[in-house]
Amino acid sequence: MTQSVKGMRDLWGTELAHFQFVERMCHQIMGAHGYQEIRTPIVESTDLFSRGVGSTTDIVNKEMYTFQDRSDRSLTLRPENTASVVRAIIQNKLLEGNDPLHLFYIGPMFRYERMQAGRYRQFWQIGAESIGVSSPESEVESIVMLFDFLASLGLADLSLSINSVGFPEERTSFYIALKAFVKAQEGAFCLDCQRRIEDNPLRVLDCKVPSCQMALTGHPEVLTFLSAESQSHHEKFQKCLQSSRIPFAVNPKMVRGLDYYTRTTFEVLSSDLGAQSALLGGGRYDRLIQDLGGPPTPAFGWALGFDRLVSLLMKKNTALPSKPRIFLIPLGDSMIEDAFQLVRPLWAAGHSIELETRGVALKKSLSTANRKGHSHAFILGEGEKAKDIITVKFLTTGEQEEWPLREISSRILKL
Ligand code: AMP
Repeated sequence: MTQSVKGMRDLWGTELAHFQFVERMCHQIMGAHGYQEIRTPIVESTDLFSRGVGSTTDIVNKEMYTFQDRSDRSLTLRPENTASVVRAIIQNKLLEGNDPLHLFYIGPMFRYERMQAGRYRQFWQIGAESIGVSSPESEVESIVMLFDFLASLGLADLSLSINSVGFPEERTSFYIALKAFVKAQEGAFCLDCQRRIEDNPLRVLDCKVPSCQMALTGHPEVLTFLSAESQSHHEKFQKCLQSSRIPFAVNPKMVRGLDYYTRTTFEVLSSDLGAQSALLGGGRYDRLIQDLGGPPTPAFGWALGFDRLVSLLMKKNTALPSKPRIFLIPLGDSMIEDAFQLVRPLWAAGHSIELETRGVALKKSLSTANRKGHSHAFILGEGEKAKDIITVKFLTTGEQEEWPLREISSRILKL
């Protein structure tokens, strides 16, 4: 039979319930911070990403799902969403009268990456973008929201890794120093790094090859090459993080895999995620809106790996808030109409009730309810009807109660 595409998976059951729980908390927390959801198309013109993400990045160079459509346009399945959100803001003039603009998104991204646990070719991201403010305080506001969101999911023990990469023009002398450092021991670096040092020197710093990381010991640090303004921005950012009690550590090697970052960059890693330890990353991108044809506008944002977040929650056995799941069993063909009459107002009131319509023996219905993880079976037979009650079986304990029919809705709420 035809299988799903390699690296792209179906979501259902417990894992999907975790995704849905996270989505609800995301809407709640980000809504409270005044962020509004934005949904952009999954397919964009290829040049959006080559211009936005950067033509020398791994994402654009080797990971994009790019194809020609029937009119010979080059299209790409979005590998990330910031470039798309920026395009949407410019195209729909969302900044006019809405400055500063706070947006969040939830959706699938696509990268043709080597398969590994925790790394998919279709994966989900949750992200937030704060557009129109250049202050370090706006960065901390976005990070506080992120940490409130993670804490609402029971993840309170994570800490930030931060750095600043300044503006491109501030990096020129850093690149000269880094190139000299790499050239002095060229043989110690992998072939990719030897190429990167020519066309995208920052990328050398986060090369995953262990021998390159060894060779980087004592490397020039981008922070020390930045202007006084960028350094003071970085210091204010740290002070504000401290006063907001967000734990962090400065990591001079952390530069992120996308080219649009200016000044602040940050990541959150979790050792519970195994080899793919990056849970989320983000930073400031003060030039991207202008580079993509909009007015000069400062901006800051982050993207979180939704699949990895869910795997972390499942590893930590995070209990999901759960409503009772009820199986309503009419006894015999004669009771199915009564069961319909009983259940429709309960459905309308939002209770989760599955109706047994197979007309099978009670024993079989009860074993189905147990197998499917229902919490309660409601049994409606001639005897119950005559007494205006329903028999309620608690499937985890086996206990049984009789409830007056008119009290069902209020009693379900108390379960
Ligand atoms: P990035 O857009 O590369 O900054 O990635 C942000 C976050 O998305 C990462 O920290 C990961 O948690 C997640 N992520 C990136 N690529 C993948 C992938 N191929 N599979 C699963 N999650 C990913």
